[in-house]
Amino acid sequence: MRVLVFGRDGKVGAVLMQSLAAAAHDVLGVEAGEPVDFGGVDAAVDFTTPAAVLGNATAALAAGVPCVIGTTGLDDDDLAQLDRQAREMKTQCFVAPNFALGAILMMRFAAEAARSFAQAEIIELHADTKLDAPSGTAKATAAAMGGDVPIHSVRLPGLVAHQEVILGGPGETLTIRHDTTSREAFVPGVLLALDRIRGLPHGLTVGLDALL
Ligand code: NAP
Repeated sequence: MRVLVFGRDGKVGAVLMQSLAAAAHDVLGVEAGEPVDFGGVDAAVDFTTPAAVLGNATAALAAGVPCVIGTTGLDDDDLAQLDRQAREMKTQCFVAPNFALGAILMMRFAAEAARSFAQAEIIELHADTKLDAPSGTAKATAAAMGGDVPIHSVRLPGLVAHQEVILGGPGETLTIRHDTTSREAFVPGVLLALDRIRGLPHGLTVGLDALL
C-alpha cells in the first residue's frame, strides 16, 4: 500500500516510517507546514498533535483517502465530524486510543474486574512531551469500567506510556498494569489497521478491539 504518515519526524511517526517500509509499504511522510499530495495514496496514518489531527484527517477524507488515527485528544464533536465526513465520502476512518495489544488486554481485564470491585482508580503515566491529559487510553478504560473512575495523570521525562488500574475492596486490592517500553509496541496494531481499513464499514470505527 502507498501510506502517507502525518507526523513523520515525531517519536511514533519516525518508528512507523521505518516499520511500515520494512513491511513492504510505500511510505510517504509529512511534517507540519509541508504540502500534501494525496495522489495514489491508499491510506493516511496520523500521529501528530491534538491541534493538527482534525485538519489532517479531514483533508485526507475529503480526498477519499481512508485514515488511521493514533493521535489522542479528539473530543466527541471531532469524532462525529470524522464519522459524518467519512460516510459522505464513502470511505473509512479508524481511531484507536491505544495500538498496543497489551493495553487492549489491560482494558478488557479492568472492565472484567470492575464488575467485582466497588471502587477503582486509574493512574496513567506518560512522557512529559504528551500534550493531552488524561490519556485517551485512561478515558477509554474508565468508560469500559462503567464511567465513574477517577484518573490521575503523571507526566515525566523518561516515561513512554504506562497505566495502572487499582481496584480496592475489603481487605484486598487488585492492580492491573501495562507498560509500553518502546514505541515499537504500536507498530503491529497500525499494520493491522492498515490491512483491515478498506474492509470496515464506511464512517468511523473506534478501538483496536473492533479488529481483533
Ligand atoms: P511527537 O513526538 O510530538 O510527534 C508529533 C509530530 O507531529 C511532530 O513531529 C510534529 O512536528 C508533527 N506535526 C505537528 N503538526 C503536524 C501537521 N499539521 N502535519 C504533520 N505533522 C505534524 O508525538 P508522539 O509521541 O509521536 O505522539 C503523537 C500523537 O500520538 C500524540 O497525540 C500521542 O498522544 C499519540 N499516541 C497515540 C498512541 C496510540 O496507540 N494511539 C501511541 C503513542 C502516541 P513539530 O514537532 O514540528 O510540531
